[in-house]
Amino acid sequence: LEPKEEFEHSSLAVDVMRPRRSDPALAVLTQEGMTVGEVETLVEGTRYSGFPVVVSKESQRLVGFVLRRDLLISIDNARKRQEGVVSASQLLFTEHTPPQPADGPPPLRLRGIVDLSPFTVTDHTPMDITVDIFRKLGLRQCLVTHNGRLLGIITKKDILKHMAQIANRDPDSILFN
Ligand code: ADP
Repeated sequence: LEPKEEFEHSSLAVDVMRPRRSDPALAVLTQEGMTVGEVETLVEGTRYSGFPVVVSKESQRLVGFVLRRDLLISIDNARKRQEGVVSASQLLFTEHTPPQPADGPPPLRLRGIVDLSPFTVTDHTPMDITVDIFRKLGLRQCLVTHNGRLLGIITKKDILKHMAQIANRDPDSILFN
């Protein structure tokens, strides 16, 4: 059996994705129901390069993926330039603006910075296929779902770490070239 085959047949997306069982939960944004202040607190409380956007916490259905940098720059710009945007403003990634309370501050709409078709695999996708797509599409990360619900994320670094671990166990295997 070729070492590559062993890798191909043994690892699945669920083995490589984060969070691991002991990790804090995946940091996600909801497409509505969060304020600008809440989003800033969540983003600034982590160092992740990006955040999945879901329909709601309950559904965990994926809307898209937003980069940390784009989010922080857009909020910053809106705070400076857009009339009435404050911490209490609703931050919306929705297609349409849901009815807002008349006495509240105007919402900040940021659907424009969301990648609405982020690459996803299911938890049972073999890693050789995932790695192949990362290479061919030059991906930095991909999302992992199960029955349409968001489960986790795999970054390029996660894959490299996983491969290094396998190579450690079996130094003769040639996994990445
Ligand atoms: P990199 O893997 O290049 O350092 P990140 O800083 O985005 O990229 O991710 C660091 C680690 O956190 C990775 O193991 C990744 O799988 C995980 N991760 C990335 N984004 C999130 C997120 N939104 N919530 C939870 N974990 C994440």
